[in-house]
Formats: sequence, C-alpha cells, structure tokens
Amino acid sequence: MKKDHVKTVKFGGSSLANAEQFKKVAEIIKSDPNRAYVVPSAPGKRFKGDDKVTDMLYSLHGKAENGEDYSELFAQIRKRYDEIIEGLGMMRDFLDEDFAQIEAELKNGTSADYVASRGEYLNGKILSEYLGFDFIDAKDVIFFKKDGSFDEYKTNAVLKGVLKTREKAVIPGFYGSDPDDRIVTFSRGGSDITGSIVARASDSELYENWTDVSGFLMADPRIVDDPKPIKVITYRELRELSYMGATVLHEEAIFPVRVAGIPVMIKNTNDPNAEGTLIVAKTDYIDTKNVITGIAGKKNFSVITIEKDLMNSAVGFGAEVLGILAKHGLVFEHLPSGIDTMSVILSSHQLENYRDEIVNELCKATEPDCISIEDGLALLAVVGRGMVRERGTAARVFGAIAKAGVNIKMIDQGSSELNIIVGIDENELEKATRAIYAEFIGE
Ligand code: ASP
Repeated sequence: MKKDHVKTVKFGGSSLANAEQFKKVAEIIKSDPNRAYVVPSAPGKRFKGDDKVTDMLYSLHGKAENGEDYSELFAQIRKRYDEIIEGLGMMRDFLDEDFAQIEAELKNGTSADYVASRGEYLNGKILSEYLGFDFIDAKDVIFFKKDGSFDEYKTNAVLKGVLKTREKAVIPGFYGSDPDDRIVTFSRGGSDITGSIVARASDSELYENWTDVSGFLMADPRIVDDPKPIKVITYRELRELSYMGATVLHEEAIFPVRVAGIPVMIKNTNDPNAEGTLIVAKTDYIDTKNVITGIAGKKNFSVITIEKDLMNSAVGFGAEVLGILAKHGLVFEHLPSGIDTMSVILSSHQLENYRDEIVNELCKATEPDCISIEDGLALLAVVGRGMVRERGTAARVFGAIAKAGVNIKMIDQGSSELNIIVGIDENELEKATRAIYAEFIGE
C-alpha cells in the first residue's frame, strides 16, 4: 500500500469505556481506510462517578505493595474487560493468559508503571483483535532512557522501521520500556503523547485525537455558558491556552507532531459529525469577527515584589533574585518590572515551604527598600493570532475588565503579540472571563 494519506487515530478512555463505545470506535476507523494506526487509552468512565481503569490499577498496585488483599479489586478490573470482550462477541478466555501474567507480576512486587500500563495494553489487544489489525506492544517501539525521560531518537528510528512493515496496527498508548526492559509510563493522560509519536513515525498526514468533546472551546464551559468551539488553532496558541489550564490534549502531545508539521484534529467519538478543532502550524484562517482564539485562566499565583531605588542601574540585580529562586528549585511564570521594582510571579504552592527563607535570602542579597509577597492572584490569558493585525484589542480587553469592576494588578503582553495576560484577584477570574468573552464573542 502506498502510504501517502495515512492517518494516526488515538481514542481516549471514555471512547473505549465499554463494548458500545468500542463499536462506535470501530465504525469510525472502518469508515476511512486511511485510518491505519490506532492508539487506544485504557477504559475510562462509563458514567459520572464511575472509576477509570487506570485509577483502579494504581490502587491495585498500592494494595499489593502494602500486602493487602487485592483479590476483589483484581476481579473488578477483570470484569471491566470481560464485559467488553463479551459485548463484542469475542472468546471469553481471550485475556486469560494476560491476567495470569499480571497476577504473577503483582506477586513478584512489580512496579506501579507496569500495573498501570496494563490498562492500555489489554485494551489494545482487544481492539486489534476486534478490528483485525496487527498488535504492536508499545514496549517494543516506545523507549525511555535510564533516567526515565522519553528517548525520542531511538523511538522514532525503531518505530518508523516497524510501522513500514505493518499496514494497519494498534499500538497501546501511555507506556514504553527503558534500557533494562522495564515498563515506564508517561505522565497521566499520556496516550495523547503516544499518538503524536506514532503519527510522526508513520509520516501520517493527520493525527486524529478522538475524545468526548467536540474540540476546544473558546472559554471554560464551567464559567461561560455554552462557549463557541474553536475551529482552527495554531500549535503556539494551543500551547498558551493549555498551559493556562485548557485541557483536552496532554500538554506534551504537541511536540512530536509539531516537529513534523502534522496537523492534529480533535474529534468527538459520540458526535463524529461535529466539526472538531484543527490544530496546525500556521494558518491564514482568521475568524475576523472574533479576533481572539480563546480565553483561559488559572488561579493560585503569588507575586513577590521587590523595590529598590536605582535598581535599574544595579548590575546583576535580576540574576541575583532569580538565582535564589533557582537554588530552591522554583520556576517563575512572569517577571513584570518597573524602573525600580521587580515582580516575580509564581504558583503559590511552590512557595509554601520556603516563604520566610526566600524573603530572608532576598533581603540579604539585594538589600531592598521594600519587599512583599501577595497571594491570591489569578492569571487570565487572552490568546489569538488575529490580535497582531487588529488595532485596539488591548483596549477592548482592559475596557471589558474595567467595566466588570475588576481591578487589573499586572499586565503582560508576550512580544509575539499572541496573547495578553493580566493578573487579577483570583475571586474575580470568572467575572473577568465572562466580560472578555462577552466583549469579543457576544453574550
Ligand atoms: N490511561 C492513562 C490515564 O488515565 C493514560 C491516558 O488515558 O492517556 O492517565
């Protein structure tokens, strides 16, 4: 087969939570012969309040490690898979050997990563059987280094070679192996990363990420009623929005496809005809009516403000301040500064244990006129590639916030003019978000 138009498709946990969902997934895959490489997650929640199999597996490992009786939990996990197998009309004993193996490994004191990875492994086996696709165990094609970090080069080389020999295959998400052949997982939600890696190695023309929402929304639906979906977004805009808390895709999933310039399409398994969100490197498409692409906010930041006369001419002042933070392993988010003031914004939880220590060290090193820490800050980002071209966007953002009666404490416009970030009292994040949404998109 000429692999010109190959697609890699990843299905999230809710898309594969039970047999009914598996059937929808198979229908989606079969409806387009280019959907050649499939990356499944573990079974997710079937209904509100249900358990995700990955969470059950972590508890299973915890119980085994503490020497507690885990037989009931083991049986519950097994039941989740048996229901899927039976619902799909497959042989009941299909996973017998795998479950026997997992039990043996548990008795041997296996790792949490191994146990958690079985969620994807088992789902991958079922899906490949059901589709009639090859099964490629992720441990043979996704590699981690000894220090636990992802081994991009080895993975890409090996995976490329293997995929060339397989026309259609299922590769479970979330895990791989290290040089000692031990199973290692990505962080939670990591099947998105596997999908992206497979898309790159297979030179896919598109990476489809199927989930339970119809793409990214312009604002958090818990804050804004029925926000509009985003049709097209660039990798960089997405990075800004997801960093600020917009979830759907794992933060790190963008990197492998970005290297290869492969677009990502977010689609809804439960509503396959909905348009979804297309993520691309560059686009000329700008929704001229809206100017902005999205709004996202995050609470729980603190600001350390340092004032000192003639700070502007003191050589190495900033380096001194940041050096102290770095020494404690703290990362900062923003550095708004004035002539004789410097502020460092960082997430409050990082400061928790070091507050006094840091103030003392900063005082000693910089002998400031004044130093303070203010908590309870929220950062609100207004993101949009269209903002560069449009005059008055900043005025509209600030105007809307002022009209809502919210005080702006900090302003930061990235030099790319891709975003405007404001710092406000965290109790007013919702109000400010709604005001900006209403200003740009409408009530
Ligand atoms: N099953 C894993 C998790 O729950 C990975 C994934 O779904 O992407 O985090």
